[in-house]
Amino acid sequence: MTETKGYAVHEAGTDFSPFNFERREVGPHDILIDIEYAGICHSDIHQAKDEWKDSMPTSYPLVPGHEIVGRVAKVGSDVTKFKVGDIAGIGCFVDSCRECPNCKNGQEQFCFKQAAFTYNGTEMDRVTKTYGGYSNNYVIDENYALKVKTEGDLKGVAPLLCAGITTFSPLRRFKVGPGQKVGIVGLGGLGHMGVKLAVAMGAEVTIFSTSPKKEADAKSLGAHHFVVTSDPANLAPLAGTFNFILDTVSADHDVNPYLNLLGVGGAMVVVGVPSSPNAVHNLSLIFGNKTLSGSLIGGIPETQEMLDFCAEHNITSDVEVITPDRIAEAYDRTIKSDVRYRFVIDMTAE
Ligand SMILES: [Zn+2]
Ligand SMILES: [Zn+2]
Repeated sequence: MTETKGYAVHEAGTDFSPFNFERREVGPHDILIDIEYAGICHSDIHQAKDEWKDSMPTSYPLVPGHEIVGRVAKVGSDVTKFKVGDIAGIGCFVDSCRECPNCKNGQEQFCFKQAAFTYNGTEMDRVTKTYGGYSNNYVIDENYALKVKTEGDLKGVAPLLCAGITTFSPLRRFKVGPGQKVGIVGLGGLGHMGVKLAVAMGAEVTIFSTSPKKEADAKSLGAHHFVVTSDPANLAPLAGTFNFILDTVSADHDVNPYLNLLGVGGAMVVVGVPSSPNAVHNLSLIFGNKTLSGSLIGGIPETQEMLDFCAEHNITSDVEVITPDRIAEAYDRTIKSDVRYRFVIDMTAE
């Protein structure tokens, strides 16, 4: 077995503490990754607190973390994609059935048999519990690990594995590119990646935010325009002018004003999960042939494409690095949106 040192929550409402456990032996198709950085995603917080108990109850002890980057320390006998010393990443899932139409289509996140989530799940045997990246290593099949070509700023690479692919996939699906007007709603962990990616794809990007204080940041991230949404008068002149809008907000909010900003054939994609359902009048979509869609991370091929795109365009996440003893503080600050724009845990720190 592989000895692993991690940080776990043992029951809802308690703090993280060191937790030693075992991962499987490195098999013929596996690689062992020594983890350097693990990003803190909002879904880690929901699961640590068992806030999704109706749909995805938390199995304690919980070691979260699905924004993982590190170096390959060992490879199995049949591994061809990686060699020792390579930089590798792990995202939200670590295996899937490999046989269903969605797996064959490179959309393993929608595996008919349900992918093996990186933590708070099980391997495909449905018995072996998975523990995430708030730990010093991970054993994973090489086909579910990602190659990282970015050298240097590895800390900013970790969040690409969830926040990066969550925003890249819908931008790609709706073919965002030069000559298009793109809106990003919300400037947080997801929104700041959305801006960088959409700008790199050549679009004219507008940030919609409730907070006027974020204007300078929006511009420094590359946004061309910044609109404060608390005053509806700011939105009125923009009606019908956008090709694509990515809504990253998880707080309850009305999507109809944004649908109104789309031009004919425009599309809006939601990736945040507010607790209350949204009321959308069909006429908001009918007038202008508009699309309202959702998006869930991305499959392995597209996640690799995103990492390659980011390496080529020098895109990383803006992060604040913490040591593992500060996870609770980072959670509190993430809930308050008091981070620019993602916390990353240095897993090499004791
Ligand atoms: Zn995530
Ligand atoms: Zn499948």
